[in-house]
Amino acid sequence: MARLQPVRGTHDLLPDDARRFRHITETFRKIAERYGHQEIATPIFEFTEVFSRSLGETTDVVTKEMYTFEDRSGDSITLRPEYTAGIARAFISNGLQQEVPCKFFGWGPMFRHERPQKGRLRQFHQLDVEILGVGEPQADIEVLALAHDLLTALGLGDKVTLELNSLGDLESRTAYRAKLLEFLERYEADLSEDSRTRMRKNPLRVLDSKDEGDKRIVADAPLLIGHLNASSAAFFAAVQDGLGALGVPHVVNPRIVRGLDYYSHTAFEFTTTALGAQGTVLAGGRYDGLVGELGGPATPGIGWASGIERLAMLVENMPEAPRPVALVPVGDGAEREALKLAHQLRQAGLMIDLGYKGNMGKRMKRADKIKARAAVIVGEDELERGVVALRDLDAGTQSDVPLADLAAVLAALN
Ligand code: ATP
Ligand code: MG
Repeated sequence: MARLQPVRGTHDLLPDDARRFRHITETFRKIAERYGHQEIATPIFEFTEVFSRSLGETTDVVTKEMYTFEDRSGDSITLRPEYTAGIARAFISNGLQQEVPCKFFGWGPMFRHERPQKGRLRQFHQLDVEILGVGEPQADIEVLALAHDLLTALGLGDKVTLELNSLGDLESRTAYRAKLLEFLERYEADLSEDSRTRMRKNPLRVLDSKDEGDKRIVADAPLLIGHLNASSAAFFAAVQDGLGALGVPHVVNPRIVRGLDYYSHTAFEFTTTALGAQGTVLAGGRYDGLVGELGGPATPGIGWASGIERLAMLVENMPEAPRPVALVPVGDGAEREALKLAHQLRQAGLMIDLGYKGNMGKRMKRADKIKARAAVIVGEDELERGVVALRDLDAGTQSDVPLADLAAVLAALN
């Protein structure tokens, strides 16, 4: 096998892709900051138990998808498959309970050993938002409004639907679990092997199964939303009311589950029909039990993550790439002057691309190729007169410009 290939499920970000990414991450940063979130970055790898304990031993991510290895000290290390666990760990290790509410945002690579397909990679990238230390529905409303604003700013407002559910509090879930288990036991023989193993540990996970047979069975299962106690129902109503007040459209989908014990109340996904089977572009929920589960002080939390690759496939209107000015020396004597001139113009804040070699025709071709806004032709004779020739590549006009005015003239081009 040729080894000079990227590892399956990984991608190079060539300049065009990198620009799309940057557009998404910069839009994200701007909007997250508007909501008072602050940037955080945690390591790309953690001790394995950070993830196995946060995500739960029965999830697909933990049972099948983690990149786990023993390092040279014999520690079990895992490349992060998602952001929340690392942030919860950082919250505990840095004693941030003193500073709640903590409102974070971050983004970066995540790693999951999945079967690669469109919109499903082994190294992918997520945007992530978390609020720690707020148990009130305002936090749910605000993280959802932030998500909505982001998707709208990226031009995806009409392409996605916010699907919302409530998992209720522990009391509601416990009552529901018993009913669900009773239902699943009736169909046990027909369930997939994964679901049979999971149903007694965590029957909610079976609702999330991607197996077609399981999906048919659970289509008739009782719904959690029908088992919410009064305070859970009130919490859910407050979230929906807040979304209504902010004009964030949503539909209730009682089938959204994040089947972990410490997930509670709000669970949601922004979905699209434009990406085939990989239709979830942003997903999250409330995880009031997570920090406690990891050994920290009981702290409510809510957040979401969004796959940058999936967003990048949907974004249509990209801002124009900034255009450089091409500097084209003509004749040996001009080379050295052009090098210096390029340096001066860059010091003045201009984006300058210096043609390194070839005759003028060849360098002008490069200027076209890099979509230069203008070309500055630096000839020996002109230099003696203290001017250069400026060619406006959009207008197709050319004129001499005194060297002393050049930076200002270039800066005025748009
Ligand atoms: P899916 O149902 O598509 O497997 P998930 O439930 O595993 O998604 P989350 O763990 O909730 O996904 O991650 C949040 C978001 O991260 C997803 O909605 C998606 O946009 C993105 N994402 C998850 N896994 C991948 C992947 N392997 N490649 C690309 N993006 C991904
Ligand atoms: Mg997945």
